[in-house]
This record gives sequence, C-alpha cells and structure tokens, in this order.
Amino acid sequence: MDFEDQRAALVSAAHRLAHRRLVIGTGGNLSIRFEDRILVTPSGADLEFLTPEQAVVTDLDGAVLVDTAYVPTSELLLHLEIYRSTSAKAVAHAHPVASIAVANLVDALPAVHYTAALVGGGVRVAPHEVFGTQELTDAVAKALVERTAALMRNHGSVAYGDTIESACQRIELVEWLAEIYLRTAAIGEGAVLNQEQLVAVAMAAAQRGYSPISRR
Ligand SMILES: [Zn+2]
Repeated sequence: MDFEDQRAALVSAAHRLAHRRLVIGTGGNLSIRFEDRILVTPSGADLEFLTPEQAVVTDLDGAVLVDTAYVPTSELLLHLEIYRSTSAKAVAHAHPVASIAVANLVDALPAVHYTAALVGGGVRVAPHEVFGTQELTDAVAKALVERTAALMRNHGSVAYGDTIESACQRIELVEWLAEIYLRTAAIGEGAVLNQEQLVAVAMAAAQRGYSPISRR
C-alpha cells in the first residue's frame, strides 16, 4: 500500500462510519500512520462527504507537512498520543449512540460477549474532559492501557489497530457490545466474562489461527 492507497482507505473508512451512523454531522475523526507521517481527517469535516484531498498530512508531532487549505482535526493530540504510547497504525474516533449511553452509566463496559477479547476485555470509560485538550488525551491514554478501545463519557469511543479497517471494526464491535449491555441491564444483572475466560477465548482463537470476528 502506498501513501495514495492510504488516502483512499481513510476516505472509505470515513464513509463507512457515517453510513453506519456511528458519527453524525462533523463528529468523529480518523488517522493512519504511514512510516513517520500521519494522514488525518480535517477539522470540521463531515465524514460522510470526505474526499481524499481533504486529508491532512502531519509529522509525528502534528506539524502539517503538505500545504493544504485544511487543518487537522481538533482531536489530533489524542491521535498522536495513541501512536506514541501504543503499536497503533491507525486510529478511529466516533460518536456511537449505545457506546455513549454506556459511558454515561458505568466506569467500564463489561465483557458481555466473548468477542470482547478482541479489544483486550472490558472497555474502560475515560471521564469527560473538553474535546481537543491534553486532559482528554491523558484520560483516554489511561483507559487504553492493555486495550485497543476505550469509551469517552458524554462523548464517544476510540479504537486503534494495524489498519484503519480494524480500528473501525473495533469501534463497531464496542458499539455492538454496548447494545447487548444496555438490553441486558434493562432487565437485570447479566453474566459477564472474567479475564481468565477471555484469555481462554484468545488462546483458542490463536490456536485456530483466526480472530473471533470475520474480516470483511
Ligand atoms: Zn469526538
């Protein structure tokens, strides 16, 4: 994949999140790391209508490298911190309804289904901080320790992966887990998996050489 392919991948992922209603309006942002450059969605972008030339290229400190009329997303700090502190090659941030509802109710989304193993288990909730701030970045980085996804109270969710597709799949997986949690919690206290059970799932998946959800 060359840099232009990455632009196309970023645009497809943006359209996918918008079409699946995981963002509305100008909410949500995405980035891809390519060697020592970051390709990131612009500030104020409506992901549904994102075009390849709107993507902004920065270095690992966020300095814009390629002249453009667009400025990087206001959440650039958060993306850069995730590249610094994890093995991420791509980061997705969205505003999905059930994920936000759960983030407003509890401090962590429990592992209500075995596929939670894909994001490292239960998903922690970062407390609310104003978007674009160092405080929010720090809170999310803490929630992401040993996880590939986190929830953000009164805000949304964030996930990372080796590709922008896997980061988006994790946003979708967390949203699906959040829906299961909400349906269960409406009736009573449902069963949840502990870390030992999730490790057994991860080992079984590794032995079979597949991940527990299909790749499209
Ligand atoms: Zn946001």
